[in-house]
Amino acid sequence: MKDSFDVVIVGGAVIGSAVAYFLTANPDFDGSVLVVERDPTYAKASTSLSSSSIRTQFSNPINVRISQFGSAFIRDFATTMQVAGEPGPDLNFHQGGYLFLANTAAQERTLRENHAVQKACGADVVLWGPDELARAFPHLDVADIRLASYGQSGEGWFSNTGLMNGFKAKARELGADYITDEVVGITRSGDRVTGITLKSGAKIAAGTIVNASGPRAALTARMAGLDVPVEPRKRTLFVFDCAHTPEGSATVNNGRLPLMIDPTGVFCRPEGRYFLSGCAPADDPAVDWDDFEPRWEEFENCIWPALAGRSPAFEAIKVVNQWAGHYDFNTLDHNLIVGPHPEVRNFIFANGFSGHGLQQGPATGRGVAELILYGGFRALDLSEVGYERIVEGRPFLEKAVI
Ligand SMILES: Cc1cc2nc3c(=O)[nH]c(=O)nc-3n(C[C@H](O)[C@H](O)[C@H](O)COP(=O)(O)OP(=O)(O)OC[C@H]3O[C@@H](n4cnc5c(N)ncnc54)[C@H](O)[C@@H]3O)c2cc1C
Repeated sequence: MKDSFDVVIVGGAVIGSAVAYFLTANPDFDGSVLVVERDPTYAKASTSLSSSSIRTQFSNPINVRISQFGSAFIRDFATTMQVAGEPGPDLNFHQGGYLFLANTAAQERTLRENHAVQKACGADVVLWGPDELARAFPHLDVADIRLASYGQSGEGWFSNTGLMNGFKAKARELGADYITDEVVGITRSGDRVTGITLKSGAKIAAGTIVNASGPRAALTARMAGLDVPVEPRKRTLFVFDCAHTPEGSATVNNGRLPLMIDPTGVFCRPEGRYFLSGCAPADDPAVDWDDFEPRWEEFENCIWPALAGRSPAFEAIKVVNQWAGHYDFNTLDHNLIVGPHPEVRNFIFANGFSGHGLQQGPATGRGVAELILYGGFRALDLSEVGYERIVEGRPFLEKAVI
């Protein structure tokens, strides 16, 4: 293998592979790309453990636009990601929509304010009162609901590993090198990073280093003498079977149910013949990077009571699978950090997605490639989610965090 690359990407899951793809696919790029991945099974990568959903229902226009690009990209993925003339993965994009429910005046106000932003961006989202909600989804108990917000198109769920593997296969076809190894050191000379040291002992010079190491982002940054406020936060997902499934009962969207977010924060969506569910834990400390023990109690204590209260169809349900993954949690403001370090400008962060990184992969990959090639963003200005706000302690405002 060569001992020098123009761009070295630390981490080869969805973000690292999206960056590798957008760089190598750009006709203005004639450099070399190395992606270093410590675990090519991706067994514990956030990408593999994700609930794999995409929504345009954010409160900040940047997040809405990032997902609008993501949604269109996911729809066309098989064509864009052709390898050797064969179609790329079909991501099986189910546009079931997100359904946010509000039962307090404060929640209702937030949904109305968010809706105004979403509509201004051209997102296909409607607000419904309880009667319209009950007509659309007759299985729901809407007695306490003041307002619902429903994405009619451009939102839903898709194949997570398909997205990652499609990017990876195409990037490799276009010349990116992938190796299995672990970055254990980063060399720096003043205001520039100059290369990496691998666990195998090899040293590789780098023109630019991209931090795409997910929940381990802070460990990677630290190797370059830098900080990033990202830590692993555990999220447990439960798949359940439903004795009397309400799927098919909707009077909209060909009977399909959406990804519903109950006012309690509990969410569920169809997953094949089952349902996938989760909740935001009340107690949410940083966990060890290798701690993937599910929080079993969340189903009985939190998820089942909320869902059974919302729909009689969810009274008789049975867990058939569960797993825990790590959010790459940005402790400043729970949003992505995409951009160079202001003092070490050839070290680029693509971190802190906090539960949105899969859907934000396409826009992030494109943005980082533009930064490397042109020194600034072109298609969509992501400067507001750059690293400067971290230095200044100035949170990026997003109210619709799940
Ligand atoms: C339970 C759960 C549900 C989620 N639901 C959604 C959702 O519905 N929609 C959504 O958009 N997002 C969701 N997310 C978030 C999303 O999955 C992540 O934000 C996204 O996958 C982050 O991708 P990544 O490539 O940055 O990180 P990862 O997928 O974690 O990949 C990082 C990679 O870097 C490698 N690595 C780390 N350090 C090194 C090193 N030193 N050397 C070499 N390799 C290294 C790791 O092995 C890993 O493969 C969810 C996450 C979880 C955990």
